[in-house]
Amino acid sequence: MSAAVPEGIDDLRRSLAGVVVLAGDPGYDDARRCFNAVVDRRPAVIARCLDAGDVAAALDFARAHDLPVAVRGGGHNPAGHCVLDDGLVVDLSLMRTVDVDDDARLALAGGGATWVDFDAATQASGLVTPGGVVGSTGVAGLTLGGGIGHLTAQHGLTCDNLVGAEVVTPDGAVIRASADENADLLWGLRGGGGNFGVATRLEFRLHPLERVVGGTFVFRGENVVEAVRRFRDVVAQSPRDLSCQAVLGVDESLTPTVIVAPCYTGSHETPSELDALRSAPGLAADSVRTHTFLDQQRVFDSAYGQNRHYWKGHFVRELPDELIDELMARLLVLGRPPGGILIESLHGAPKDAPPDPGAVGFRGAAFNVSATATWQDAALDEEQIAWARDTAAAVAPWSFGGGYVNYMQADEPIDRVRAAFGADAFARLQALKRRYDPENVLRRNQNVPPLNGAER
Ligand SMILES: Cc1cc2nc3c(=O)[nH]c(=O)nc-3n(C[C@H](O)[C@H](O)[C@H](O)COP(=O)(O)OP(=O)(O)OC[C@H]3O[C@@H](n4cnc5c(N)ncnc54)[C@H](O)[C@@H]3O)c2cc1C
Repeated sequence: MSAAVPEGIDDLRRSLAGVVVLAGDPGYDDARRCFNAVVDRRPAVIARCLDAGDVAAALDFARAHDLPVAVRGGGHNPAGHCVLDDGLVVDLSLMRTVDVDDDARLALAGGGATWVDFDAATQASGLVTPGGVVGSTGVAGLTLGGGIGHLTAQHGLTCDNLVGAEVVTPDGAVIRASADENADLLWGLRGGGGNFGVATRLEFRLHPLERVVGGTFVFRGENVVEAVRRFRDVVAQSPRDLSCQAVLGVDESLTPTVIVAPCYTGSHETPSELDALRSAPGLAADSVRTHTFLDQQRVFDSAYGQNRHYWKGHFVRELPDELIDELMARLLVLGRPPGGILIESLHGAPKDAPPDPGAVGFRGAAFNVSATATWQDAALDEEQIAWARDTAAAVAPWSFGGGYVNYMQADEPIDRVRAAFGADAFARLQALKRRYDPENVLRRNQNVPPLNGAER
């Protein structure tokens, strides 16, 4: 079924410097595709914007024609919030320019830039900000939810490095958020998601970085649990110059596999912190070596729009042996590979932030543990989703208080979203929402409903 073409669409075409894409137009199917193949929605209008003026015009058009709105950055959110049936998509994917000021060590990224765009631009000057680990992920979407990656221990969450933004509010106003202007909005953008406006430019603090020691250790076999324990212990003792993530899985024969991805930025070529990992039983492949940060950003990859996904997890206070054993057991329950379990360490710089730098509520956690169910056959939807939910439930006794908004599906209840921030920060976000989006126009996200009752 094709979505109906709204009246006055030619006015929108004329007022936009960018492109309007409707059902049947060339590129419509590409423009509505998102990372999660479960999501198959048909917008009435896709407004491919080029600047803040275009975004304001698209939002005006949606308001005038009573069209619900979705905002698309990199299209990676597993909940599929970037696309909707019968509404208008504010598509930022043509706004990918990244300007770098070497002297000031600042980068200005367009609202649709991806980490490939960002890292290529900043690394050309030997600079970096801590971003996501998959290059095609959107800079804005990731930052607005927090941002965990290969440089978290060294430089904190991505949102900790966000120093300013240009934002188009749902009423079409273009405003700035920084420490000096609308500082409360900057606080909300540091973790509170796309609830307050469309970020058309984001400004980041940069750090010098010439090379890293990184790559992956791959462990395979019945003893891999020891590698997970060593990963936990290494990050607990490691200095601020080592970030580390682990992915637990099983192969087709149900043999356990563990991938550990360190990223070390200190001065040693063979950092001793990695010895314990390198000597763990079951090491099947070792690609850890000195390479560029751009190489490190290619260590993980993920097919776009080809697999079905359902992700659910918890930030945890600790990762005891009992929980590791439970996670390894969960990988076997379906009798086929269910996807993976991602464990991201939050040691180091996230803990150093000044008091109340932003809305994120998880920086005190030890790890983020996420069941990332991944499959292809739609007939398996129910089982795969149940696997992710049950796996998250098994993690819940160690929960720090909530899950990661960046990985949440669309069916999370408001209590889980509130728990992700904590009650006080959530109330503050609701007050901000009331100021910037009282009608809850921007509700296709992990929604913070305004305090005025226009709740979902
Ligand atoms: C393969 C993969 C790898 C990932 N890796 C990481 C990782 O390493 N670290 C991490 O922390 N997270 C990671 N994520 C999660 C990711 O950060 C979130 O899903 C994020 O929402 C994706 O942003 P996007 O712009 O690509 O997505 P979209 O689906 O385009 O956007 C998601 C939502 O973000 C909001 N949004 C996006 N852009 C803007 C904007 N310019 N202004 C206002 N609102 C906006 C909107 O509400 C939108 O609905 C990963 C996700 C995937 C699928």
